Amino acid sequence: MSKGTIGVTTDNIFPVIKKFLYSDHEIFLRELISNAVDATQKLKTLSSIGEYKGELGDLKVTVSIDKEAGTLTVSDMGIGMDAEDVDKYINQIAFSGAEEFLAKYKDSANAIIGHFGLGFYSAFMVSKKVEIHSLSYKEGAKAVLWTCDGSPEYEMSETDKTSRGTDIVLYLDDDAKEFLEKSRIDELLKKYCRFLPVPIVSGKEQEWKDGKYVDTDRDNVINNIEPIWAKKPSELKDEDYINFYHAIQPGQEDPLFWIHLNVDYPFTLTGVLYFPKIKNNLDIRKDRIQLYCNQVFVTDSVEGVVPDFLMLLQGVIDSPDIPLNVSRSYLQSDANVKKIASYITKKVSQRLEEIAKNDAKNFEEKWNDIKIFIEYGMLTNEKFCDSALKFMLLEDTEGKYFKLDDYKTLIKDTQTDKDDNLVVLYATDKVAQYSYIKAATDKGYNVLVMDGQLDSAFVGMLEQKVEKSHFVRVDSDVIDNLIKKEDTKDADVSEKQRNVLTTLFKSQIPAIEKAEFTIAFANLAADSTPVVVTQSEYMRRMKEMAALQPGMSFYGEFPDSYVLTLNVNHPVVKKVIDASASALDAQVNPIEDELTVVNAEIKAIRDTDKDYKGLPADKQKEVDEKEKRAHELRDQEAAIVTEYAKGQDTVKQLVDIALLSNGLLKGEALNNFLKRSIDLL
Ligand code: ADP
Repeated sequence: MSKGTIGVTTDNIFPVIKKFLYSDHEIFLRELISNAVDATQKLKTLSSIGEYKGELGDLKVTVSIDKEAGTLTVSDMGIGMDAEDVDKYINQIAFSGAEEFLAKYKDSANAIIGHFGLGFYSAFMVSKKVEIHSLSYKEGAKAVLWTCDGSPEYEMSETDKTSRGTDIVLYLDDDAKEFLEKSRIDELLKKYCRFLPVPIVSGKEQEWKDGKYVDTDRDNVINNIEPIWAKKPSELKDEDYINFYHAIQPGQEDPLFWIHLNVDYPFTLTGVLYFPKIKNNLDIRKDRIQLYCNQVFVTDSVEGVVPDFLMLLQGVIDSPDIPLNVSRSYLQSDANVKKIASYITKKVSQRLEEIAKNDAKNFEEKWNDIKIFIEYGMLTNEKFCDSALKFMLLEDTEGKYFKLDDYKTLIKDTQTDKDDNLVVLYATDKVAQYSYIKAATDKGYNVLVMDGQLDSAFVGMLEQKVEKSHFVRVDSDVIDNLIKKEDTKDADVSEKQRNVLTTLFKSQIPAIEKAEFTIAFANLAADSTPVVVTQSEYMRRMKEMAALQPGMSFYGEFPDSYVLTLNVNHPVVKKVIDASASALDAQVNPIEDELTVVNAEIKAIRDTDKDYKGLPADKQKEVDEKEKRAHELRDQEAAIVTEYAKGQDTVKQLVDIALLSNGLLKGEALNNFLKRSIDLL
């Protein structure tokens, strides 16, 4: 028997391990089983190159529990260790700058363990004593027993183990008794060991006999030693991919597409990523892709390894180039990991492009389901965006799909305006915006549907990507203004008429919460709509963006700004203009005349202040008085027009019809409109 002190420079590493790593202490099982699997794989390698000539036997790793003794044992039939190996690999832990490191990483168990190669020592997170019983594969090797109670002292002696391999026996701490429950162990094995390449055995398979479950003599193997990603794509059928998907994501619908990743250079990576069918909510759960390292489960928080936008995918990635024990900050800064992320991005876009090309119908059918991934990707990842522009689809109001380039060609002749801008029209609600869509399609224009959750941001992005383009919602102005073919003449309405009509129509707009209206005048065709309500593209987009971005919510508080455009060529509007002129001119003209004079006087005084230094006090006073007078005059005029408006059912009706076709007429206002319409009959 020999005694010694474990070669760490900080003498009490174990309390540290226990204390800091407590929250993650279940990983000890993964560590021990990984070592056992490694030892097994090493033996296989030695055997294959002829360095080990003995029988391999039925290689497996066994986890067993002895409740009475309070022990958990991990046994393998791998290469084993002799006294020299134990001394070298277990006793001499390379340990430098320990305290500094602990101070830095004390919150991350994985980082410490990984950094120090403390895999085996993680056993002390849950044990008061640990034994290693081992017999090396080497010819004539003597079996060794190593014991340590968690202090830096260990004992080593010869023992009588006769079978090749290693048993690690943990005498569990009182507060780690949960690991004596088979159900708890099986749960951990399922989590960490589900796809390990060596059979992991936990107890025996059971069967129902004489009214109860009894053990059979068959091992209960908990893992699938050859998961789908370890096989060649050519050996696999669609069915295999779908079955595997359901195994890792139970309770989901079939996936839409999948991508088998397989690369050897400049790093090794395999995996299968699935595009799941997601319901209409963008719910980014971060645990849908599992990361493995040589089939050992590492983590399901893959931020950094998988580009952010692909977090919506599900599946597995396996790469020996990602260290088993890593902290997230490490993952994000590692150059290899960055390469992996950009490889995955490239692969995903290649695959999508391939499907879009070779299986266009399938791609179109599934477009609405995958659109959210693609748009999210395009919005957040420049590289992906550039490649996705080649295969992404646009859908028009008739349900036809187009690739971006084809769409540009389709609308180029009809929808280029006088300034040579390509105007792309879109609707966000086919039903609510029907009359605007109809007005556009009647002119031979095409209208896209952009009703996805990300579309408001997406439209902004496309506008940047498509040179000389404007994307405008079909209800953001009257159609002739949206695609201006020539310089249009201003509507032929005098300043005075504008003032009167503005007050007249404004006074008849029912109160709508958080909505503001301005009145505009347009020379439209006599047979197009008399009055149209539109919403400025710019303000609407600002508000939509604000809703998506925290910290910009003040934009959301702004009222929606609408424009009520009067088609001054429409006979009904003309009638309103003429009628108001004959009814109001006598009263309004003198007011307007005086206003003209007062405004001119104000301007004349202001003009004396050429250098904008501020008017002298007496002049300023004069301006103030005149402005007060102008105000009074406008109020007077407004009162007259408002009084007149009360009897103008036509104006009310015109306003309401316009609001109705924009979905803005609701509640009492809608009821009033209906009543008035019936009365008119
Ligand atoms: P790491 O696995 O990161 O090298 P560990 O502390 O877990 O660190 O193990 C140290 C070394 O001890 C291993 O590299 C291996 O050589 C040896 N070892 C641990 N467990 C076993 C085992 N079950 N069989 C054979 N060798 C083992």
